[in-house]
Amino acid sequence: MSRRKKGKQKLIGSIIGIIVLILAGIFGLNNESINEFLEIENNINNNVTKEITTNSMTVDGNLNIYFIDVGQADSILITNNNSSMLIDAGNNEDGEDVVNFIKDKGITKLDYVVGTHPHEDHIGGLDDVINSDIEISNIYMPQIETTTKTFEDVINAIQNKGLSITSPKEGDTFNVGNASLEVMTDSILDEDNLNLSSITLLMQYGNNKFLFMGDAEEENEETKDWPKVDLLKVGHHGSNTSSSDKFLNETKPTYSIIMAGEGNSYGLPTEETLNKLQNIGSTIYRTDLNGTIEVISDGENIEVSI
Ligand SMILES: [Zn+2]
Repeated sequence: MSRRKKGKQKLIGSIIGIIVLILAGIFGLNNESINEFLEIENNINNNVTKEITTNSMTVDGNLNIYFIDVGQADSILITNNNSSMLIDAGNNEDGEDVVNFIKDKGITKLDYVVGTHPHEDHIGGLDDVINSDIEISNIYMPQIETTTKTFEDVINAIQNKGLSITSPKEGDTFNVGNASLEVMTDSILDEDNLNLSSITLLMQYGNNKFLFMGDAEEENEETKDWPKVDLLKVGHHGSNTSSSDKFLNETKPTYSIIMAGEGNSYGLPTEETLNKLQNIGSTIYRTDLNGTIEVISDGENIEVSI
């Protein structure tokens, strides 16, 4: 909801409140009657809030999320109403596949490209995406550098295309079609652990909430309280470094998506994380077992197809 709308509502609320008090003065209403009036006023306000909230979250067709099977890596494509966002692009060798996947969906423009953090399994294929003929409007990456060739390739591709990097902060919001997104945490800038710089995003479409954690770890999770969500892209490929009890009890995802490579040498996801997710009753999907996972939301219901 826009601030202006909220302000307007508050103003209407205040005016109603003043009228109630004036009426109370004129007609000598007792406290109980005033309370009754104020209750009605509150209800009116609640209804107004609800209606506007629904209006501002206009749902237009389906929201599609593709958790692309890029092995031991992340790449997520989100589309709604002719707008699209890519979160990560797999390892270096996955770039071409990711580009083809995007094009196969008929997408020629990415409104947002997010490199959650500068590890190869997240930004490896980004240079191919940026160098392709797909139009790109915004690039989000954390404000941290690394000395790898992978990172250098991405920076060169961004510069060659005349684009620039935005490093978002906690509370920043933007839209992809009719889905609204919020940056959930500030990047923790630690050169020794780039995972902590992960950009985390909460996306809301209608009444559905989706949380994308990149490789964020417990240190990121404990910086705040989390909302309940319908779907969680589990942090750090289902590693023990992430998905703390507190975080999972708060987010209580109906669906959990783990992105991992079949038979990966890291042993991810771990038994511990899988058990924790099972214990909160979450239905788990894994790219290492299910391949590419497509999630469709109409703003009320979520359908997962594998
Ligand atoms: Zn990773």
